[in-house]
This record gives sequence, structure tokens and C-alpha cells, in this order.
Amino acid sequence: MALSQLLEPDRRFMQSALHQAQMALEKGEVPVGAVVVRDRHIIGRGHNLVESLQDPTAHAEMIAITAACQTLESKFLTGCTLYVTLEPCPMCAGAMVNARIDRLCFGAFDSKAGSASSLYSITHDQRLNHQIDVVSGVEAQQSETLLRDFFKQRRKMPTALTDKSLISA
Ligand SMILES: [Zn+2]
Repeated sequence: MALSQLLEPDRRFMQSALHQAQMALEKGEVPVGAVVVRDRHIIGRGHNLVESLQDPTAHAEMIAITAACQTLESKFLTGCTLYVTLEPCPMCAGAMVNARIDRLCFGAFDSKAGSASSLYSITHDQRLNHQIDVVSGVEAQQSETLLRDFFKQRRKMPTALTDKSLISA
């Protein structure tokens, strides 16, 4: 089978993750989205809600993992692939190891916090009790474009409007 055919399902599920990222964007959140897939079915979805919930743990991956665990009624996500538009941070990569996820597909690399190769390799550190197969750069361009547009837009806003606490005050 050609490599492009092998990558086809990954591209398709990454589109679902990108759709989640778009939903984050529409809420004024940094656009990152994730889905958890098992047996070619999406069993958990999530997008970044850090600002909306004022919760630093409300990353797309954390929300998708929690949703998938609820679907399976299990604390382990064995046999699952997590798709996320941006390389996971240390917290999310750690959660993936704890959840025993089989496989991770991510889009854009994150040079500032990436923990699946860029800064750390938490997903495949042999010292930990679980290692994850990692595929990087899936539809990375689309993810990067979303992020770039978001930050460009945010820089244009007056300082007061970028601080939610000032808007609601
Ligand atoms: Zn994270």
C-alpha cells in the first residue's frame, strides 16, 4: 500500500481535530483541537478552553482524554490514537502516558513547550512505564495557519481587550 493511502485515515481524523481547533478559535481561545480514535471511531473530542474555564489544565488533549475515558468507562485508552493539531505540552504528554494511549498524531511542532520531540520526549521516554508511537507533521500547515492568524489578530487588539478580566469588570 502506498504511503499516501496509509496516511489517509490520519489526515481524515486530523481534519476533525482541526474542526475542534476552529471551535476554540471562535471562543477566542488559542486554536488547538484534539480527538481520540478507537477502531476508526471518534470516542472523545476536545478543544482548548483555558480562558473560558480559567483553568490551566483545560487543554484540548486533556478534555478529549477525559471524554474518551468516559466513553470507554475505563482509565486506560489502550488501542487508541490521539490526534491533536499542536504538539502536546508536558502535562498532556504525561496524561497520554498515564492513559496508555497507543499512538499520537500531531500537526504543528511547538518549539516552546512540545513534549513529543521538540523540548522533551515524554511520549517515548524509555524510563517511563509506557511508550507511545508518534507521527508528527500531519496537516501541520493548516494548524500553523490557524495559530498564526490567531496571534496576529490578538496583537492587533488594544491591550485592554486582550485581558478578559478587564472586559468583564
Ligand atoms: Zn497541553
